[in-house]
Amino acid sequence: MNAPNARPGGLEVWAPSVVPPIGVELTNEQALAIAFRHLAAIGFAENMAGHITWQLDGQTDMLVNPWGLWWQELTASDICVVDSEARVVRGRWDVTPAIHIHTELHRVRDDARVVIHNHPYHACVLAALGRLPELVHQTGSLFLDDLCLVDTYDGEIDSAGRAADLAAQIGEANLTILANHGVIATGRTLAQAVYRAASIERVCKLAYDVMLTGQEPTKMNWSDMAGMQASLLERAADVYWAGAARMTIKADPDVLR
Ligand SMILES: [Zn+2]
Repeated sequence: MNAPNARPGGLEVWAPSVVPPIGVELTNEQALAIAFRHLAAIGFAENMAGHITWQLDGQTDMLVNPWGLWWQELTASDICVVDSEARVVRGRWDVTPAIHIHTELHRVRDDARVVIHNHPYHACVLAALGRLPELVHQTGSLFLDDLCLVDTYDGEIDSAGRAADLAAQIGEANLTILANHGVIATGRTLAQAVYRAASIERVCKLAYDVMLTGQEPTKMNWSDMAGMQASLLERAADVYWAGAARMTIKADPDVLR
């Protein structure tokens, strides 16, 4: 049927040209509070554990969650600011000494503007086995040649020196699995880091379930995965973020307070 008012479709459209608006212009603190709430809502957070930092371009200070509050209860006014030495320069709460994981990674990685750390369950199953997820699904292409395994657990990382050693092990990877501990996801933007964090738990669950079958999974070609990786980063991350923000605000508008 001929539809004269039809908009382009198929391969003519690289990304959605029309999506519902988030509805409000978000401050950085509001956006970060939404990121915490969203990742908690999809099961990424282990009760009160974990941290997200956001170091804006050209700054050494970073936005961070307070110590002792759960991700799912955070509001924009709870967000603290620490300097590059982890001193709290703004905010009404304390910040965990484990924040050095973030300060030292930001120090050496210009591209890692956002650093997310927590202990999502299925990633922790693989972390307990000391292994990375096998990439056996197209969404796993997001992590093609971008995974790091830190294969030894040696206690809490609560000093800048130990965190600098960890940052050296992570190198250029955007997703690290820490043996017997959890994950570190990074991104140039909040949207990219949140998308990696949200995706790794599902990728690990899928890889684990495939392992349980005892059968050999079908392989994907590297070049197909590389194309999908670029597509996911360029097209999916921002669309994912906008939807996450809409749903989080709708569930509880107080997140913006
Ligand atoms: Zn941890």
